[in-house]
Amino acid sequence: MDTKTLCDGILDGQRRALSKAITLVESARADHRVQAAALLEALKAAQASPREALRIGLSGTPGVGKSTFIESFGMALVREGLKVAVLAVDPSSARSGGSILGDKTRMELLSREAGAFIRPSPSQTELGGVARRTREAVALCEAAGFDVVLIETVGVGQSETVVSEMSDLFVLLLAPAGGDELQGVKRGIMEMADLILVNKADGDLKAAANRTRADYAAALRLLRKRPQDPDGFPKALAISALQEDGLAQAWAEMGTLADWRRAQGHWARTRANQNRHWFMEELRLALLAQLTQAGPVRDAVARLGDSVASGTTTPALAVQSALALLHPAVHRAQDG
Ligand code: GDP
Repeated sequence: MDTKTLCDGILDGQRRALSKAITLVESARADHRVQAAALLEALKAAQASPREALRIGLSGTPGVGKSTFIESFGMALVREGLKVAVLAVDPSSARSGGSILGDKTRMELLSREAGAFIRPSPSQTELGGVARRTREAVALCEAAGFDVVLIETVGVGQSETVVSEMSDLFVLLLAPAGGDELQGVKRGIMEMADLILVNKADGDLKAAANRTRADYAAALRLLRKRPQDPDGFPKALAISALQEDGLAQAWAEMGTLADWRRAQGHWARTRANQNRHWFMEELRLALLAQLTQAGPVRDAVARLGDSVASGTTTPALAVQSALALLHPAVHRAQDG
């Protein structure tokens, strides 16, 4: 499909065009990158006032109930008449070969809904690559008119940071704790959360879930107050994704928070900062690609590495030589 057909199809909300466009942004081929950039630009130009979805980042360790939550929460939103897209950032997919959301049995009901769109994580070796592709997929889903974009990630390594940097709200899903420990959730992750949902608050686990919720509520109160939060946030709730209990309240809290942030200007400011961040990140990746893609530059960089290893030159000088390889004209201008 040419760029114009894709662009028109996406704006028209056609799933096939959206799927194809996501495949395009996931491709690393140079000509595909050029077309992807043109498509994103064309979509931006075609929208007088850009369509904006509520982007919700969702993290939690395997088994905590992410897919169960997405299924029941997503279905609840669809029943309200909202269009819901589900994307994933999975840093482990490259290693395991599988990917979250890849399993067809997950989110069976939601995946059959006309108002829902589910896309597995792109398989990439580098988290940076997965991040860029997901971020561009988010932009495509917004242009296609989705009201809510859920971005799922497993709670490992840097992926939460990456997801929070492309979300308006960040939701942490936790399991009821057995003891009185806070499940070793890292402080940095807690600090990112806007809403902590303690899942499985049903049956035998209900009392433990309520205790865990209270523990996290207390822990959240100890964190430094963030400017982007109204009173009472971040908040901890107990829910049951399985029994669809507490989901309406969770959605209401997200709405309260989003409305407040919009009214206070935090929403726009955060998105502006995120865009700036992604520009720098993309630039970093592009420069790195120039240095590591097969060709004379990579060979020369490898030789510089050898010289550093053998002590013929210093890392500092070798870096300057490597940069001069990339941008000889700039360096000549500086020298002259
Ligand atoms: P994920 O790995 O985070 O996507 O977790 P899943 O959604 O696959 O759920 C893992 C297991 O927990 C499954 O057996 C679910 O049925 C179960 N589970 C998920 N949500 C709930 C819940 O609210 N209550 C109970 N009791 N079990 C749940």
